[in-house]
Amino acid sequence: MIVCKFGGTSVGDAPAIGRLVEIVRARVPEQPLVVVSALSGVTDALLALPGLPEDLRGTTVRRMMDRHLEVAAALGLRDVEPALREEAAVLEQTLAAVAPGAATPEALDRVSGTGERWSSRLVVAALAAAGVEAVWVDARPVVRTDDRFTRASPERAGLSARAAHAFRPPLAAGRVPVTQGFLGSTADGRPTTLGRGGSDFTATLLGAALGADRVEIWTDVDGIMTADPRLVPEALVLPVASHLEAAELAAFGAKVLHPATQAPLVEAGVPCVVLNSFAPDRPGTTIVAGLHPTAEWASPVRAISWKPGVTVLNIRSGKMLGASGFVLRVFEVFDHHGVSVDVLATSEVNISLTVEEPAPVTALCHDLEAFGDVTVYPSRAIVAVIGIDLRGTRGLAARIFRAVQHINVEVISQGASEINVTFVVREEDGAEAVRALHREFFGNGAHG
Ligand code: ASP
Ligand code: MG
Repeated sequence: MIVCKFGGTSVGDAPAIGRLVEIVRARVPEQPLVVVSALSGVTDALLALPGLPEDLRGTTVRRMMDRHLEVAAALGLRDVEPALREEAAVLEQTLAAVAPGAATPEALDRVSGTGERWSSRLVVAALAAAGVEAVWVDARPVVRTDDRFTRASPERAGLSARAAHAFRPPLAAGRVPVTQGFLGSTADGRPTTLGRGGSDFTATLLGAALGADRVEIWTDVDGIMTADPRLVPEALVLPVASHLEAAELAAFGAKVLHPATQAPLVEAGVPCVVLNSFAPDRPGTTIVAGLHPTAEWASPVRAISWKPGVTVLNIRSGKMLGASGFVLRVFEVFDHHGVSVDVLATSEVNISLTVEEPAPVTALCHDLEAFGDVTVYPSRAIVAVIGIDLRGTRGLAARIFRAVQHINVEVISQGASEINVTFVVREEDGAEAVRALHREFFGNGAHG
């Protein structure tokens, strides 16, 4: 069997769902399990709902309903309306219990999950109308998670059994199960979500749990690219990438994949293909285990990525000199606040860390001041040079920093992983740094 996951733009309107139907139809012999995101923009709109005054909530829900009904009408789906309305009624019930601006994370998850429930109803109906036998499967009881609402972690124990129980019977009967990405529930049945962009993660979790032959991630670009094409028009598609590279790229801002997606696949040895649903015949990027530089792709650098919206915290402390366990105690502060650190650089008396905005910077500083003087640098960007065995590549650092010598580089972290070199710049310099590095390593579209 295979897993086919369709992102928001790949189910965004009637033509997109029409393309989805053809893609899935062509794969029926391979026993596809379909995982869908919400229609593009719907999750954002849902998350904004609890902040709105009550009258505006009503009109917004109606507008979302209309959009889904229009898609249904355009696809000639007559029977789906009651199911869509039922989800809307549950949504309105949840909202009614939430005072404007006072949603708990748990309530937010109930609200935001509506998008995938709507889209999966449309998709299952569209497949059925096109003569592909499809069944709607509720992802929530399958993807059991902890109770960290809005960014829940899936429980891996028992997942294979729950997934087999839910999906094997329809697959064996030659039917196409359609389920929701992003959604899960706690052991006691309270709905959760896996965090923004979490549908990819659902797909790879299920693919790994079911021992899929591959996981296909259908999106709106041709695959994983050497840089964000909006920033660097001459960016190239990577024909192959390793799981590790894909994970690093996702962590450093490549919007194509959710950062956690690759872990289940690495363990299960399942390959992943990123494909463009707007041009389904293009080869996309195949993500596989271990990868070595090939003659075809001589450059050890594979991609340039960046992430704006970062704050640097610098702790200067005389106490650090030779004190064992210092870094550990600093990290405990971040752990305590539930904040993860992206880039870390240390010297004898300084430690610099980056956190994603918005982070509870004031509270972090308060606790970190116990260790020394803390300075905060907001509005920074992390730039990451990602590739194969960068640590072992001579002269690479010189090449990188020569390429960006016109930009002020603030924190450098090299060799922390074999596959990336990262540094921090002011946010407004981020785009130029990416362009300069892309020129250096990939020229104008030629492999560097
Ligand atoms: N719909 C969710 C989001 O927008 C999950 C996803 O699309 O992956 O974050
Ligand atoms: Mg996505």
